[in-house]
Amino acid sequence: VSFGYEDVAPDEKTARVGEVFRNVAARYDVMNDAMSGGLHRIWKDVFVRRVKPRPGEQFLDMAGGTGDVAFRLATAGAAVTVADINPAMLEVGMGRAAERGHDGLVWSEMNAEQLAFPDRFFDGYTIAFGIRNVTDIPRALAEAHRVLRRGGRFFCLEFSTTLWPGFADVYDAYSHHLVPKLGKWIAQDEASYRYLVESIRRFPDMARFEAMIGEAGFVQTRVEPMLGGLVAIHSGWKV
Ligand code: SAM
Repeated sequence: VSFGYEDVAPDEKTARVGEVFRNVAARYDVMNDAMSGGLHRIWKDVFVRRVKPRPGEQFLDMAGGTGDVAFRLATAGAAVTVADINPAMLEVGMGRAAERGHDGLVWSEMNAEQLAFPDRFFDGYTIAFGIRNVTDIPRALAEAHRVLRRGGRFFCLEFSTTLWPGFADVYDAYSHHLVPKLGKWIAQDEASYRYLVESIRRFPDMARFEAMIGEAGFVQTRVEPMLGGLVAIHSGWKV
């Protein structure tokens, strides 16, 4: 499997991704604002508006990290479990939840590839900027399908490939040159941000990823590009 610019064994990838997010956890929220010029907040707003959680619904926010999507789901009235493989990210998230008075969330350390929840437990599954870091993506999608009830919805927010040609060039230059530098200046960590940029480049394109969601058993799959597909919302239903 690929980790940034190299190919590594699956276990090695999981361990290295763990290291990346342990390293960036403390500066993660600041870096998101710096790298996206605050745009990630709008993408997450659009995402949760699209998810449309209803009060009382059970949601799993997978790879939930420091809680950005989970807080939005909870504000809409959903009961949210935040799961992430990385305790350092969850730690920051729990601190932010306490500051903001989101006290009803459940925080759980878990690998997306192997969920400890029973079959058909959740009404909705969200994963934002998380799936491309997962080592075995088909396995994570199969687990998402398993823990959703019939009629449950799957939603993924992820970087993809913009189909706007001029914009693609600008973005490429920005992400390959400036993002690692921002990582160096703000988080004293250039290598982690090199990995993050490269993991975006290697992620399957919109149509391919939509097909993978279908292969996991979801129906009525859809993809909604933003900025030509720089970021995309993929969704599907379990029936
Ligand atoms: N969803 C949050 C957001 O949008 O701000 C966090 C996104 S952050 C870029 C990616 C997260 O994926 C990290 O918190 C990382 O620990 C988590 N992650 C990576 N591999 C994972 C896996 N196999 N299972 C669960 N979480 C994973």
